[in-house]
Amino acid sequence: MAPDPDLDPDTSPAPHAPDPHPVDLPRIERAVREILAAVGEDPQREGLLETPARVARMYAELFSGLHADPRTHLRKFFREQYDELVLVRDISFNSMCEHHLLPFMGTAHIGYIPDGKVLGLSKLARVVEVVSKRPQVQERMTETIANLLMEELNAKGVAVVVEATHSCMTIRGIRKPGSLCVTSAMKGLFRANLSSRSEVMTLIYGGRR
Ligand SMILES: [Zn+2]
Repeated sequence: MAPDPDLDPDTSPAPHAPDPHPVDLPRIERAVREILAAVGEDPQREGLLETPARVARMYAELFSGLHADPRTHLRKFFREQYDELVLVRDISFNSMCEHHLLPFMGTAHIGYIPDGKVLGLSKLARVVEVVSKRPQVQERMTETIANLLMEELNAKGVAVVVEATHSCMTIRGIRKPGSLCVTSAMKGLFRANLSSRSEVMTLIYGGRR
């Protein structure tokens, strides 16, 4: 018999157990001092003295998802004979574009049709949180969340839509403030069935556009 993850959480350990010192803060501090010197600043200037340590702590926070397993949140489901759409809209997130190490931020909308395994609603937000706190591209983030839900819940269908503004597009390069990047991943019923896909998109955008 399969162990119940809620009753016996220790039977399903994370693939990589959390490292007590996962981020090398002094190494980041040295690197930040190097960058400051390289752009022509004086890292010893009073206003910059604490900056390397501050940036190191910030990166540890922004990349904390590298040392967490989103699956732990998906294993806390409950069994319920409900096979209609569950949708959580407007889950806000911040992530870091892996091409520029600049933030992108926005909202994720997640819908799924369960097949006996139903999640507590906060767990979807937890999954977004873990996956976004990594060097990311929006397309992969969207796909990762959808695949995790399909795999862990054996859902009949999963729909993930992510909308974000990328500061690498707004403050540098092409400089297009206000542009919104939208990505979606449709799995199972939502991929196979146009009316299911239309239904979830209408519910995500209903009354807003
Ligand atoms: Zn970028």
